[in-house]
This record gives sequence, structure tokens and C-alpha cells, in this order.
Amino acid sequence: MSRPEDSREEERDARVPGGRPIFVIQKHDATTLHYDFRLEVDGVLKSWAIPRGPSTDPKERRLAIPTEDHPLDYADFEGIIPEGRYGAGAVMVWDRGAYQNLTRKDGQEVPVAGAIGRGHVSVWLEGEKVRGGYALTRFRTGKGEAWLLVKMDDAEAAPGRDLVATETRSVISGRTIEEIAAGRD
Ligand code: MN
Repeated sequence: MSRPEDSREEERDARVPGGRPIFVIQKHDATTLHYDFRLEVDGVLKSWAIPRGPSTDPKERRLAIPTEDHPLDYADFEGIIPEGRYGAGAVMVWDRGAYQNLTRKDGQEVPVAGAIGRGHVSVWLEGEKVRGGYALTRFRTGKGEAWLLVKMDDAEAAPGRDLVATETRSVISGRTIEEIAAGRD
């Protein structure tokens, strides 16, 4: 008989061959609509709220506000956070996939946790919608801590695209945020 921990491991292996770390972007229609960008780091989801979502244009900077770490299994959450609870509103799994750490210093890989601590991390995303290199850079520390998410200039850069406008459905259910909010299957 397998323990719950074992079955969770199997699910993760099924989702990402090789057990590589995952990222998820959840579209969240809370008080204000935003996209929660989460990276698996050392067993948790490091998280930023991005009001305008990711861009595919290297010239576009997207504000990213750090939010609390989430447990790894939250990456699959899609549905409704009830009224009265923090973040009340509909949540969609807008994109997800594996990622690779691109962060280097003096030619050496910098582990993601340390890179985030130092305020700069670069990752290669392998989502169904969002692909290629992205850099996250902290530009303000303290109470109003804030970061910028910028597409790196690589083969996946596509200045003319607007993923947030054109990609409106969940990668796990095919639903729009309105259908999720209405509780439709
Ligand atoms: Mn959120």
C-alpha cells in the first residue's frame, strides 16, 4: 500500500517527466485581476502577483509584487476562493510547465533560492503558452518590495503577441475565468 506522499510523487512525475521543477501562472480574478506567477523552489511555490501578466516583448516590463509562498500542491488549484477569505474570487490555471534555472554569476549557476534572495533570477519557462527566458529583478526593497518581470531576448521573444489578450482559457479545463466563476464544468 502506498502512502499519500508516494502517490503525490507519482502525480508530479507524471506531470513533469524527469521530476524537474515546475512553474505555474494562475489567473486570479480577486479585488483586481492579476496573474500569480509561481516557481517551485525547495519544495514550495515562490510567488509574485503580476497585474498585467507576462509579456513576450523584451521591451515590456511587468510589475511583479512578491506574495506569500504557497504549498506545491496549490499549483493544481483552479476554482473559487469563497467570499470572506483572502483572495476571494475565481482562480484559473492559466499556464504551467517545467522550468530551468538560467541564473549565472561568473559562469557558475546560482541556485534559485539564493538568486531570489539576492534579487535577481533568470529562468527558462516551458509552458503551454509562455516559453523562453524570463528575468525577474527586484527594484525596490522593504515594505513596498517590488520586482519586474521581463522577457529575455531569445528565440521565443515575440514583440507582436499579446498572450494575456489572446489566451483566455485554462490549460487544465479549457474554461474561461467567467466559466470558472460561474461554477461551470
Ligand atoms: Mn492572487
